[in-house]
Amino acid sequence: MANKPSLFNIICSCCLIFFIFLASTPLITLAIPATQLIPLASTSQTVEEKVLTGNKVDLPVNSSDTPEYDIFTYSQRRERNLPTLLPTPLPYYGTKVIYLTFDDGPSPENTPTVLAILKENNIKATFFVLGTEIEKYPDLLKRIYDEGHGIGNHSYNHIYRELYQSATTYVEQLHHTDDIIKSILNVRPFISRAPGGSAGSFTKAYWEILKSQGYIEVGWNISSGDASNAKADQLLNNIIFQTEKNKFLWSHAILLMHDGKGHAESAKALPQIIKFYKEQGFDFRIITSKTPPAW
Ligand SMILES: [Zn+2]
Repeated sequence: MANKPSLFNIICSCCLIFFIFLASTPLITLAIPATQLIPLASTSQTVEEKVLTGNKVDLPVNSSDTPEYDIFTYSQRRERNLPTLLPTPLPYYGTKVIYLTFDDGPSPENTPTVLAILKENNIKATFFVLGTEIEKYPDLLKRIYDEGHGIGNHSYNHIYRELYQSATTYVEQLHHTDDIIKSILNVRPFISRAPGGSAGSFTKAYWEILKSQGYIEVGWNISSGDASNAKADQLLNNIIFQTEKNKFLWSHAILLMHDGKGHAESAKALPQIIKFYKEQGFDFRIITSKTPPAW
């Protein structure tokens, strides 16, 4: 026969339930995704960034879509005993975001055409430049910068057998190109892109040295296919096909194109490419430290 619960037992049970609730509250708080905890009113800088910038490179508050540059090169930071590690801001995922990127330039054949089309459409892109080309065409680098586009480091000479001898030879080419960029613009970028892509060329050592020196490697998830002899129509079709196929990448679509010598078809296709993304309602952005990894 079950005992009838006494008033004392009922009170004890209530206390126990209340105690369990109180004890679990911190766990509930921790389970809320960090994104919901940290937005600050007037900027997109997060609490996480504020904490991390203590012993890290002090990136400018990048509330929208402005390129990020450093007034020091890596070796100047070392000389001055300044931090070289970058903070890790929350990646920006939008609904429909496209990052147009142009590699291997600048070139007098294509870069001015590309810049004119971008200006006409009032959009910004990111240019991963080669040291050898900016040595020859410093005014084009200056123009890219002055017109508000992003600039990234794409190695000095793009010659795989020299570049990919080791992680050290790789970063030496980045340093060399940074020095040239700095001599022209008085700033240098944090972002870099491995010629041919990191897959197949980077070992763990490459990723480690890039991180320790404050470089952000930027890949792509849509390729125009303009490294081939494809004509403008084919390039546009390649891009539309990959974009439609991978809608899960629309939050951060990163499109690879080229503005170096021999890529006139890319410049020719560009107005139609831009039209396609505009019609789909995409937001055109510049690559920054907030740009998510391509994959
Ligand atoms: Zn390249």
